[in-house]
Amino acid sequence: MSLDIPPHAPHPWFGTADDCLLIGGRTITGLAAQAGQTPFYVYDRGVMTRKVEQLRAALPREVHIHYAMKANPMPAVVRHMLGLVDGLDVASVGEMQVALDAGASSSLVSFAGPGKTDAELARAAAAGITVNIESEREIRVLAAIGARTGVRPRVAVRVNPDFELKTSGMKMGGGPKQFGIDAERVPEALESIGTSPLEFQGFHIFSGSQNLRADAIVEAQQKSVALAARLARHAPGPVRTLNIGGGFGIPYFPEERPLDLAPIAANLRELVPQAAQAMPGAQLVLELGRYLVGESGAYVCRVIDRKISRGQVFLVCDGGLHHHLAASGNFGQVIRKNYPVVIGNRIQGEARETASVVGPLCTPLDLLADRMNLARASEGDLVVVLQSGAYGLSSSPRAFLSHPPAVELLV
Ligand SMILES: *Cc1c(COP(=O)(O)O)cnc(C)c1O
Repeated sequence: MSLDIPPHAPHPWFGTADDCLLIGGRTITGLAAQAGQTPFYVYDRGVMTRKVEQLRAALPREVHIHYAMKANPMPAVVRHMLGLVDGLDVASVGEMQVALDAGASSSLVSFAGPGKTDAELARAAAAGITVNIESEREIRVLAAIGARTGVRPRVAVRVNPDFELKTSGMKMGGGPKQFGIDAERVPEALESIGTSPLEFQGFHIFSGSQNLRADAIVEAQQKSVALAARLARHAPGPVRTLNIGGGFGIPYFPEERPLDLAPIAANLRELVPQAAQAMPGAQLVLELGRYLVGESGAYVCRVIDRKISRGQVFLVCDGGLHHHLAASGNFGQVIRKNYPVVIGNRIQGEARETASVVGPLCTPLDLLADRMNLARASEGDLVVVLQSGAYGLSSSPRAFLSHPPAVELLV
């Protein structure tokens, strides 16, 4: 049976059997036994595989798909994704090392992010990955590394575009930003790359994250290709890679619906020949994190105490915001809304009630579900937060209050 989560959208990837949640065909109680503890995260590799397959079936063949590792850097997840996608995008040398350990060829790894230290740039250059340049300083430092070592570091220019991704959960381009080089200063940066011992690879334009509006993504992709075509005239060599970002969102909250890929695919079918004409030989790349792994994961904790305070039911659990900051509403959300939450071992239950799910931390921010309609739960039952495969454990303040760590399973 498929999993219906009123008032949220039905979950398309997980099922139920005997009123128990199934992930990767396994019962949530069996997975808890395998984990040996609560709280734990479980990720379903089959969902990741099908997400990439769905995307490839929709998009033109010419478009490459990269996995943005910061969404979920668990090494086993990265190894699985490496077998599905065309490249990995890392945001630190720590992630770079996980990517290379997973067996990624350095030619398929690119490294973006502000504030790369001299030592980090030297490690990236030594590994032979592409560095997405975020500032004029990074050009100077890498040029000095190239001159010193005799090996030309491979660089792409991250452009801070002169437009914004509309209705994006998190804007990362347009206006004044710490990311990338402002579009109007890119011609000068390209000139200094051309006169330095650097290998020019192409452009990287990433304008934002968690967007569920296809029209906004289409517009950003059109503008990104047009901007790259304009800047390419100043490039010191051919544009080999044109990374036009991603930003594809997944539905988290009751009123949200999945992203419609059809208009995005139709637009890309027009952009592929346009890009080929302006930048012959350029590989078009989309970099996606959340869209590929977010729906595959769940966070599972156990009800320790069923408390009633002045008529309101609180399910006090052994897990909370220290493992899952995003579900508590404190990771970039403007207004707190409930993630899809179910009682994993009694999905419908014998009775329903309105309950709040809270964690063990001494702060009212430690809230996983605020007055949601749930199966009536008892102490020992399993609370499951869905849509938790991206920006979960690694995005949470794990040391806060010194509770035990969560474990992660990939099934
Ligand atoms: C965070 C990030 C991504 C991934 O964003 P998602 O919303 O998870 O797809 C991609 N590229 C860059 C440069 C990023 O910083």
